[in-house]
Amino acid sequence: MESQNKFTKKFSFEFFPPKTLEAVGKLQTTQEHLARLKPDFFSVTFGAGGSTRERTFETVMDIYQKTGIDGVPHVSCIGSTAEEIQNVLKTYMDAGINKVVALRGDLPSGSIGGGPLRYASELVEFIRKETGDHFHIEVAAYPEFHPQALSAQKDIENFKHKIDVGADAGITQYFYNPDAYYRFIDSCEKMGMDVPIVPGIMPIVTCTQLCRFSDACGAEIPRWILKRLQEFGDDRKAIREFGIDVTTELCDHLLSNGAPGIHFYTMNQSTAVETIWNNLNLSDINRNQD
Ligand code: FAD
Repeated sequence: MESQNKFTKKFSFEFFPPKTLEAVGKLQTTQEHLARLKPDFFSVTFGAGGSTRERTFETVMDIYQKTGIDGVPHVSCIGSTAEEIQNVLKTYMDAGINKVVALRGDLPSGSIGGGPLRYASELVEFIRKETGDHFHIEVAAYPEFHPQALSAQKDIENFKHKIDVGADAGITQYFYNPDAYYRFIDSCEKMGMDVPIVPGIMPIVTCTQLCRFSDACGAEIPRWILKRLQEFGDDRKAIREFGIDVTTELCDHLLSNGAPGIHFYTMNQSTAVETIWNNLNLSDINRNQD
């Protein structure tokens, strides 16, 4: 973990582009609340095959116009043609955006055809070829390993390849076992990687939603957490309190051990993140390190 200590701590919040007018209104309230915490950026997800292309762009622009904080679009390559990706990059460059999160993405089950760029590393290479050094590029990292990885070692090698071809930093899939992150960072260090790898953290607010996501993305919910959550049944208040407690401790542990910031998966909600932020006085950490 030593190498991670030298990086300035960065805090960011992830949103997905809202689908309905009502959801747009709710996200605006969320972004107003979270903007007060002065994060380094807000990122906005991108549906595979470009399904949210316009909404991702509109959300990113809206964030910047309303809060003055950078909106960072995710770009995924699976299911998109080279020309479509070129157009997306040009739109972002023309709008003055200079940071992206580059991903492979996941096609919905049953979809056929992946497009010319099969892996995120190929997208990173493509972005560098098309736009030189214009974009700061963040890529995904998996401390508990990507579900399709051939092996743990191959997955770390594939992450390294993304860095070698031009990515500047990593954001991890969410996890609740900090040792998985520390081990991952140690392996990256041993393989000579020298970029910040920021832990992605999903505050626990409901049990069903968490289990559904975790099954799909391969994130492990430790048995002791699952057992407790199941015991709370329909008691949403108890689940929330327990979830915030566990997530606060996790963030504290990670930051105290040198993690270079936190990227919060907000699910477009502000309350849990604000509570964790205030519990840990993260505004002070942020200011001291800037
Ligand atoms: P890759 O890095 O390409 O890896 C995918 C798999 O392929 C891994 O198993 C890897 O080991 C393997 N692999 C890589 N290169 C090779 C190779 N050359 N040969 C063989 N195997 C290889 N999804 C979205 O659709 N939209 C989003 O906005 C989005 N945002 C995300 C943000 C973060 C921070 C994270 C962690 C994930 C996000 N995802 C998003 C989910 C992500 O798209 C999925 O996890 C997807 O399955 C993998 O994307 P990747 O960029 O990690 O792919």
